[in-house]
Amino acid sequence: MTATAPGRQLAMVFDLNKCLGCQSCTVACKTLWTDAPGMEAMWWNIVNTMPGRGTPRDAFSHGGGYSDGEPVPGRFPSLAEYGEAWSFDHAATFEAQGERIPLHPTGRDGAPPEWGPNWDEDLGGGTYPNSYYFYLQQVCANCSRPACLEACPRDSLYRREEDGIILVDEERCHGYRFCAEACPYKRIYFNPVRAVAQKCIGCYPRLEAGVAPACVRQCPGRARHIDYMENRQGHPYQLVHEWKVALPLRADFGTEPNVFYIPPLSPPAFNERGEFDEANPRVPTEYLRELFGPGVDAALATIQQERETVASGGQSALMDMLISREWNDLLGPFTENPAGLDRPPAR
Ligand code: SF4
Ligand code: SF4
Repeated sequence: MTATAPGRQLAMVFDLNKCLGCQSCTVACKTLWTDAPGMEAMWWNIVNTMPGRGTPRDAFSHGGGYSDGEPVPGRFPSLAEYGEAWSFDHAATFEAQGERIPLHPTGRDGAPPEWGPNWDEDLGGGTYPNSYYFYLQQVCANCSRPACLEACPRDSLYRREEDGIILVDEERCHGYRFCAEACPYKRIYFNPVRAVAQKCIGCYPRLEAGVAPACVRQCPGRARHIDYMENRQGHPYQLVHEWKVALPLRADFGTEPNVFYIPPLSPPAFNERGEFDEANPRVPTEYLRELFGPGVDAALATIQQERETVASGGQSALMDMLISREWNDLLGPFTENPAGLDRPPAR
C-alpha cells in the first residue's frame, strides 16, 4: 500500500545548537504514553549523543527505507540492541545499615546491563583537544513516504488526513514487525505483552485540543519548533523552505521525513600549536554531511552570517526565530495550556 498525500502535514524543527541533552522531552513522553506493561523499554522520544551508536545500537545500520526508489530490506533490532528496561534494588540501598550500597541497575538476568538507550552519552568523538559532541533528538518523523506503512501487509498503519501523523491500528496489527524492519530510523517498537507494534503518536489527542506535544512543550532549551508545513509564516516552513537552515536527517533513506534539524555550529579546531585553526571546525563538516546531506554547508554559513549580523548590532529575523524569546512562538497553533487535559486512558 502507498501513502496518500495528506491534506495537511505536521512538521517539527529541532535546533541542535540549543538542545541541552537533558532528556526532559524523553521523560515527558515516557510518563505520558509508555508506562503500561510491555512498554517498559520503549522510548518514542530519545536524545542521543553524537557521534555515538544511537538508540537502538548502531541505529542507522539496520536497513529499511528506500534506495533508488526501491525498498531496502531491514531488520528488527533485538531488545538488547534497543536497551531493555533495568531494575534497581532501592531497598538494599536505602535500608542498608552501616554500609554504603550504591544504586546499580540490573538487567532481566540480574547481571549489570551492557547496553541501553543513549548508552554512550557525552562520550562524543574526535581526539583531545579537538573532542566534540552534540545531541540529536529523535521521534517518528511522520514521513511523507513512510516505509513502515508501505511494509505492512495488513494495512495496519495509516496516515491522518488532518495532520499527516502515522498511526498503528492496534486492532488490525498482528505483530509481524515488518513496519519496524522497514523504518530506517528504527522508531517503531514491539509490545510483547499485547503483541502489537507501537510508535510515537505525535501527541494527537493534545494537538486536537490545541496543545503542543509533550516533548515540545516541556523543552527547557526551547529547541523544538512545531507547526503545519502549509503555514508559510510558521517556523518549520520558514526554517526549511525560506532560510534553508533546517535539514532532514539521513534524507538518503528516502522516506521524506517531516522532522528537520538546525545543524550544530562548531568552534574552530585547535592546530598543533594549540591555536585556533579558523579554517577547520571542530565538528567535522564531513560528518554533518553524512547526517544532514550536502545542504549543511550552506545552512551553517547562513546561520553564522546571521549570527554575526546580530553580534555587530544588526537585526536578523532568522536569529529572532531561532531564539524565540516568547516561548509560545515555538508552538505554532498549539499554544493551549495542557492543565485541563485528561490523562490518557491506560493503554
Ligand atoms: Fe514510519 Fe519510521 Fe518514518 Fe516514523 S520515522 S513514519 S516509523 S518510516
Ligand atoms: Fe534537548 Fe529540549 Fe529534549 Fe532537553 S527537552 S533533551 S533541551 S530537545
